[in-house]
Amino acid sequence: MPRQCNHDFTPEPEQMALWPDASGNTINGLGEAAERRASLVYWHDPETLAFGQVQKWFYTYNHSPEVDAARAERAEILEQPLPAVAPERAERSPEDWSRLVKERALAASADIVGITRLKAEWLFEGVDFGWTWVVMLGVAMDYDEMMTAPEPTAGAEVVRQYGRGAKAAKGLAGWLRREGWDAGPVTGPLAGDLLLIPPALACGFGELGKHGSIINRALGACFRLSAVVTNVPLVADEEDSFGADEFCVNCRICDDACPPGAILHDKQLVRGARKWYVDFDKCLPYFNQTFGCGICVAVCPWSRPGVAEGLIEKLARRRARLRPSPKDTG
Ligand code: SF4
Ligand code: SF4
Repeated sequence: MPRQCNHDFTPEPEQMALWPDASGNTINGLGEAAERRASLVYWHDPETLAFGQVQKWFYTYNHSPEVDAARAERAEILEQPLPAVAPERAERSPEDWSRLVKERALAASADIVGITRLKAEWLFEGVDFGWTWVVMLGVAMDYDEMMTAPEPTAGAEVVRQYGRGAKAAKGLAGWLRREGWDAGPVTGPLAGDLLLIPPALACGFGELGKHGSIINRALGACFRLSAVVTNVPLVADEEDSFGADEFCVNCRICDDACPPGAILHDKQLVRGARKWYVDFDKCLPYFNQTFGCGICVAVCPWSRPGVAEGLIEKLARRRARLRPSPKDTG
């Protein structure tokens, strides 16, 4: 059921007292025409961030028995040590490694997996590392639980699935290390050195939605990401485009439903690329007071189980109808 709100949210004074004299949109490069790497803005070491005090406040404010239990479960997964890299390297063709990596990722609890060659522009500014490949992992969130957003039930589901994503990444990285190839898991809750959305788009997870999350042809926007970086020889997957971007142009379900009105209706110029963008300064206060919100991901029509296939067919039929026939162009 679509939700509508009047965007009249007023943040808690306690949170706003910690608000820095800075704009997350400026840090993110909103309106910048030149390409540059992303700057750290949130979910990193709070002592290094303009929004560090606000980030700390998120963890003091958002407590509930189910969220705390999910965080404890995730912490246990994150604390598990990785195996050492075996001294003998297994040798296989890139095709065989790619097949095995995907099988292992799925067996380690990922729901979707894709491979792409790492690009330097996906690293935050000032970071350099010597990995060649990114294996992207996606884990589905429970739609019914996400539809309770912004209640703690949805927040707990997000934490649980970040835990499952971490389990999948650590399982895959551990397997590669036992095969003699170094590999590192990239998992939440804090973000690492690598942006996850650009490699996820590059490896075929889907298209960027107006709500700033990826829309996948099977899972909609109802999934979370983790990754493994490695140098084992692999084969890159292709991007996947099925009409979600075009669908967003005429849909405003997420922007109507967003309590602080943070979802911008038109694409914006961000560090040299025109794309969908969520107003960081408007989203964050609400996100921070509601266990990470999640309303926009839940209400997106692509997220409703069983809907995506029909939408893709409908968009393909519309494209075929609008395409000029040879008679028109001849
Ligand atoms: S997560 Fe942010 S953008 Fe999405 S609905 Fe909540 S406040 Fe709006
Ligand atoms: S709710 Fe509509 S506009 Fe928003 S991301 Fe989903 S399809 Fe796009």
